[in-house]
Amino acid sequence: MPLYRSTAIVLRRRQFEETDKLLVLYGREQGKFSAIAKGARRAQSRLVGATEPLVYARLQLATGRNLDIITEATPRHTFAGLRTSASKIEYALYLAELTEALVDERQASEELFDLLLSSLYLLENRSCEETVGRRFEMQALDLTGYSPELSRCVVCRAVRPPERPASYSPAHGGILCNRCSTGQQEILAGPSGVLEGMRCLLTLPAHEIDSFSLSAPDQRSLRRILRAHISYHLERDLKSVKAIERDEED
Ligand SMILES: [Zn+2]
Repeated sequence: MPLYRSTAIVLRRRQFEETDKLLVLYGREQGKFSAIAKGARRAQSRLVGATEPLVYARLQLATGRNLDIITEATPRHTFAGLRTSASKIEYALYLAELTEALVDERQASEELFDLLLSSLYLLENRSCEETVGRRFEMQALDLTGYSPELSRCVVCRAVRPPERPASYSPAHGGILCNRCSTGQQEILAGPSGVLEGMRCLLTLPAHEIDSFSLSAPDQRSLRRILRAHISYHLERDLKSVKAIERDEED
């Protein structure tokens, strides 16, 4: 069987045979793919430490007929610090689930890989979980082509005057001008501070995460708009959202 190497993050562990693990991985060079870690459910397996959810690992794999098989796995970073806090681990699992949902199999994106990895490091080392989550959502949506339209009305294409508040329509995936929002269902208020916040998050570098702040009402609006936008595009709610919603209640 041909062998290849991968630098990957474990997105999820799926149920499989009694002693094996079936993993959904996100590889820097491979994108999303599944692979089996044989015997990795046994405590003494040499694969055990590198095949847990959220571990960043170097892998060697053998190309299988249906699924590839992990032959070697070395953890580069296990993100043990995430596991010390319920909200950190819940956000991290949410980012992993969102990544899995946004991408197709074997479509590599080094930028998305680096965004996920840097976001996991931020969650582990900083205390601004919600900002890390919102930044990841904005940038991951942008990298996968699902970015919300923020500068023009999605119906009539009129450019939004920068100082004017706008309405966001989940059904249209972007903002509506005053004229087009009349009579529409499911409009979320988007005060101009929220739209500016969304733009800022789109380009915010990881090392400047602490410089980002929004008022509590803007933070709530931002959360609702992004949640509605993501559910609209995925046509479902992610399982891990419930856990982070508990942390976000205020
Ligand atoms: Zn319009």
